[in-house]
Amino acid sequence: MSSSHESKFPDKPLGNENDRKKFEALLKKKNLKFTYERKYIFEEISRLKGHFDADSLYERFKEKGLRIARDTVYRTLPLLLESGVLQKSAGEGKREYFERISSKGHHDHMICIKTGRIIEFHCDEIERLQEEIARKYGFKIIFHDHRIFGLSKEAQEQE
Ligand SMILES: [Zn+2]
Ligand SMILES: [Zn+2]
Repeated sequence: MSSSHESKFPDKPLGNENDRKKFEALLKKKNLKFTYERKYIFEEISRLKGHFDADSLYERFKEKGLRIARDTVYRTLPLLLESGVLQKSAGEGKREYFERISSKGHHDHMICIKTGRIIEFHCDEIERLQEEIARKYGFKIIFHDHRIFGLSKEAQEQE
């Protein structure tokens, strides 16, 4: 029997142990190994609190002198998304941004196309409706990325 008590590990970053379990479970399911590259990527991500993109993550390895190919970073991020360790996030430009779910909990984003301001929100009703719609279409959600683009209050006042 297994039971998890996060409170048993108050000295560790919140969610880290759980995240590892989630990631390991997905790798196992896909018959993939927890290679040292994947471990480094996982560890590095555990240190990040905010929004990041694949290239900035890759740069961190380069700065530390770790030999991890950009390609490996790009190929590992979808696995971290699927395992529920990461969620798609938002940032400036057309890049894909990510963040750790365990740092703030699942949330979605509103992005101001004028000021670049990002508003994070969580809505139980939207989450529930997404599930409901997917079920209706016999669709299995792996992860979702809900972003709303528009003008923030400040940007509208500038118009
Ligand atoms: Zn966010
Ligand atoms: Zn959501």
